[in-house]
Formats: sequence, C-alpha cells, structure tokens
Amino acid sequence: LTSSSRSKPSPSFGNVIPQVSPPPRRANATLVMLARNNDLNGVISSVEQLEARFNRKFNYPWVFLNDEPFSTDFKRRVSVLTDANVSFGLIPREDWIQPDWIDEGRAQEGRNNLVRQGVIYGGNVSYRNMCRFNSGFFFRHELLTPYKWYWRVEPDVRYYCDLDYDPFLFMEDNDKVYGFTISMPEWEPTIPSLWSTVKDFIAEHPQYVSPDNSMDFLSDNAGDSYNMCHFWSNFEIADMDFWRSEAYTKFFEYLEKTGGFYYERWGDAPVHSIAAALFTRKDQIHFFKDIGKLWSCCFVFILVTDPFAGYKHAEFAHCPQGKQWREGHCSCDPNDNFDFAQNSCLRHFMRLHD
Ligand code: GDP
Ligand code: MN
Repeated sequence: LTSSSRSKPSPSFGNVIPQVSPPPRRANATLVMLARNNDLNGVISSVEQLEARFNRKFNYPWVFLNDEPFSTDFKRRVSVLTDANVSFGLIPREDWIQPDWIDEGRAQEGRNNLVRQGVIYGGNVSYRNMCRFNSGFFFRHELLTPYKWYWRVEPDVRYYCDLDYDPFLFMEDNDKVYGFTISMPEWEPTIPSLWSTVKDFIAEHPQYVSPDNSMDFLSDNAGDSYNMCHFWSNFEIADMDFWRSEAYTKFFEYLEKTGGFYYERWGDAPVHSIAAALFTRKDQIHFFKDIGKLWSCCFVFILVTDPFAGYKHAEFAHCPQGKQWREGHCSCDPNDNFDFAQNSCLRHFMRLHD
C-alpha cells in the first residue's frame, strides 16, 4: 500500500444516506363510530368498506364508543378488519342517561305526543340519549380528547367510491370546520321549540354569530323562522375544537337546560348544523362532493315518513357525477343521487356559495 492510498479518506458512513422518503404528513384525526354490540354486522360492513375505499392507504385510527361495554367478540371481529389502531370506549353514564332534573312526566308526555304523530323514534328514550350525547358529549370522551379531527361513521352505511386524498388535511389546509355530504329538512314535530331557543341564544350572545354566517341555509326569511334544513350527521368530517369552543359550549348548555333533548326529540344533526351555520364563516363548511370524486357518497338511507297514514320509504344517496364517478371507481348509480331531489337542502347551500 502506498502512503497516498492509505491516506485516502475512507468512505464516511454519514455520507451514505439511505433513501427514505419523509413520513407523509398526517392530520391529528380519527374515525369514530358509536355502536351497540348487536350492531356488529352493520359495523363490520361499514368498516370493511371504509378500509377498502380509504383507510387502507391512510391508516387513521378507529374509536368505537358504546354506552355498554363492548363484548369480547365485538372487539375481536372489528379489530381484525384493519391494521390501524383500534380502541373501544365506554361512555360515562352521566354523559348518556336522561338527567335527574328532567321532569319525567313531561318527557313521557312529549314521547306520547310524537308516537301519536307517527314520528320515527318518537317514544324512544335511548335515541334521545344518543342525540344528546352526539350533540354535547362525544368530543369530550377521553378516547377523543387527543384528536382534533374526526370522521363520523355509522353502522350499515355505504361507501361507494375510492377516496385517494386525505380529507382531514384538506379540511386543515383550507381552514374548514365542518364537512357534509347530504342535507335535508328535519321533521318539524321533533324540534318545535328549537328555533325559538336558538333565537334567544343569539339575542343574548350576539358575539358568537359569525358576520359571514350561513343563516340563509337555515332560514328563508333572514332568521325569523327555521326552514328545517340541516346537514345529515351520519357522515361528518369536522373539527372537534369547534365543538369544544366557548361558543358551542355555551350554545349546548343553553339548549340542554331547556330539556328539549327529552321533552321534544332534538336531533344532533339540526343542533350541529345550526351551530356550524351560525358560528363559522360560510366558507368553513364544506360539501364533500369532490371527495365523493374519490370515494364516497353515500349512505343509502331509509327514512320512514307518514304522509297519509301510510308509509313512504325514500332513499337518500349522494353519488358523485361524471369524472369523479369514473375516477372514484364508484359502485353507485350516478342517476340515483339525492343532491337536487325535491327535498334536498343542497340548493339552499349552493345559493350561499355562488
Ligand atoms: P338514525 O341514523 O337517526 O336512524 O339513528 P341510528 O339508529 O342509526 O343511530 C345513530 C348512531 O347511534 C348509530 O351509530 C347507532 O349505532 C348509534 N346508536 C343509536 N342508539 C344507540 C344506543 O342506544 N347505544 C349505542 N351504543 N349506540 C346507539
Ligand atoms: Mn343511522
């Protein structure tokens, strides 16, 4: 060996950087589903589809919540469907059951009244527990407090298309707060005093109302009366920090103390929608039609109404159209689309955004 060759610097390990790409950016987000043990088949169906169409690529964690402990069988059958982190939580009893201060006689009267009118879930207390929990409590559950963003999933929903971008990052990067796919009118007998309560609240707390709000989505007469339009909450991609904000906290407390969740049958969908429409800027509410480009759409849903003492069943779906339908490899019929059906509220939303 010559001295020159000996003095040659040996290749430094530090110069040989292995070719690893940086980890993809992720949102602080989770998928969340409220379910009962006996919803297992519907839960499996929803998780299977969402995993295949979206989450296999993105691996966001799942959180399942229940007012009773999940069975070992439920946990085993659901956990096997994904490589993502899955957790199962029990809802604290006081966040679920009808509070003691509710006048049960009056609540019973309210239930009887809705049963007489043939309103779906009219006589059901656990449905009311669920609506109140989704309105005011889920985002405070200890399994959800670490997260900012959530995607709400329900048992037995259908996801028809691929979603190959990250909707949480989309929301974050575009300063969005609330995302929906289907909107429609609520059934008036379930919320007879909700709007007057909302009007009282905003009269007392005008500072929470956004100057650039979506009142015209909710009302056809500048807020005098509610047109019943709401975003359907069985799909939501939204920011839990909004539900944790002072405005929404005060709003929920105000609604809660009227007892309307039990004396009437206030749904979490109108409650969320009214808050999102009034306390955010209108450009912070997002219609996921192009997400639909990649996945989605649709929950096909059956709503039972009672127009002439008979029953009418209607289906509601959002099916992406055209290029979005093709590129999303959608399995829905693009002609079977609720977007501009007679009682869709999408046109109310669109007229705000033209
Ligand atoms: P709908 O969409 O208004 O017809 O109401 P659902 O019956 O679909 O209920 C909405 C969500 O709450 C679903 O995710 C259900 O699984 C869940 N849910 C409804 N009632 C209960 C209940 O009593 N206990 C639990 N753990 N989940 C419930
Ligand atoms: Mn449902």
